[in-house]
Amino acid sequence: MDKRDSNDRMQDIISLCKRRGYIFPSSEIYGGINAVFDYGPLGVEFKNNVKRDWWDTMTRMRDDMVGLDASILMARRVWQASGHEDVFTDPMVDCTNCKGRFRADQVEEMSGDPEVCPTCGKRGTLTAPRQFNLMFKTYMGPIEEDAGLVYLRPETAQGIYVNFENVQQSMRRKLPFGIAQIGKAFRNEISPGNFTYRMREFEQMEMQFFIAPESEEQWFDYWRERRFQWYLDLGMKREHLTFHPHGPEELAHYARAAVDVYYEFPFGPREIEGIHDRTDFDLRRHIEFSGKDLSYFDDATQRRYVPFIIETSAGADRTSLAFLCDAYDEEVVEGEKRVVLRLSKKLAPVKAAVMPLSRKEPLVNLAHAVHNSIRGLGLTQYDDTGGNIGKRYRRQDEIGTPYCITVDFQSLEDQQVTIRERDSMAQRRVAIAELPAILAADLAS
Ligand code: ATP
Repeated sequence: MDKRDSNDRMQDIISLCKRRGYIFPSSEIYGGINAVFDYGPLGVEFKNNVKRDWWDTMTRMRDDMVGLDASILMARRVWQASGHEDVFTDPMVDCTNCKGRFRADQVEEMSGDPEVCPTCGKRGTLTAPRQFNLMFKTYMGPIEEDAGLVYLRPETAQGIYVNFENVQQSMRRKLPFGIAQIGKAFRNEISPGNFTYRMREFEQMEMQFFIAPESEEQWFDYWRERRFQWYLDLGMKREHLTFHPHGPEELAHYARAAVDVYYEFPFGPREIEGIHDRTDFDLRRHIEFSGKDLSYFDDATQRRYVPFIIETSAGADRTSLAFLCDAYDEEVVEGEKRVVLRLSKKLAPVKAAVMPLSRKEPLVNLAHAVHNSIRGLGLTQYDDTGGNIGKRYRRQDEIGTPYCITVDFQSLEDQQVTIRERDSMAQRRVAIAELPAILAADLAS
């Protein structure tokens, strides 16, 4: 895709999200707030489906994982121990001409020249880089004073580390085992953008796997493969996914090895998830700063050690955006453009839409009965909006609904309806009595 086509493609996706109730700019009637978004009625279903599949795959389908929901506000010492207060910074430059502010390492990518301002295009107006801390601050208690300073968490991981002992002991866990968590994180990004790719408020799906030191490599390799496979299992195209291993200069201060999963967005290949070998850095730091002994006694080997950690860290919004971009498709059918979101059935927000051919009795009664019979299958819609059936099919194609069920006058006589399939547009007649079982099987296939 050349640059103009890829810009167009992104604009098409953003406009579909707005038009069809997936994603809206936050506070839009007040002009919006930069890099914050709201999920609409279909977006919340869709993102919940992404999160639910991650949660089920990581926790319920495994014996060696438990879940957690830690708070957003944590003791300030946590962020001193983690290093975030000192080093969670990005180098930032200002433009003295237009007052724009950019991440120093992104200027060249944005303007094509490290010396040229990406907004006003002037050369030589950028200041020297300054370090800027990305954590949002707020104050606990009625007085805004330093003693009450707290941060909105910039990652969910620390909530897991500080609960390691609570979880391990209350759940009587032996290593290796993992703790999974989904929750909000906040970063005051200097150069946010690309829709929901880089936001200031976002959600993470993070897992920390606690292991014996000598099994570091084995578990790192294991989780790298498992996480890659998750995207494929949800229908993401193999050719759009790559691994990006971190070289020594890219490695974060806590990591011995790291690999990102990259997705080929319309705006280029970018990180959607990181898999990190964090060694015993995190627990050691919390031992040092809290004075608590967080080491583990291994009965089998009669050894005491500080657990090593393999982390998998994905963004719920970023992966959702990747699934949307991957599913977006346009084709020409009978001389007309058809836009279709080819989402996996698991992720599609609406599983089936029931469409009566007319709004008159007794067809309407039958159509409502058909709709009620399939409600248990997930979110379904009853669509008796005007327009011919073709237009209604197209609207459901655009939001990714796998099946449309048409109730026509013939249905009154033969107690059958038509199932129309999103991707192939193939239609078949089935008995109303068998519809729930047929749809359940099709949705699970
Ligand atoms: P980047 O280099 O893009 O800033 P990162 O390497 O700092 O990302 P991590 O700290 O490893 O990201 O966070 C783990 C995951 O959380 C990322 O892979 C991404 O999916 C998600 N994430 C991080 N920052 C944001 C953001 N500002 N908006 C949306 N998702 C984010």
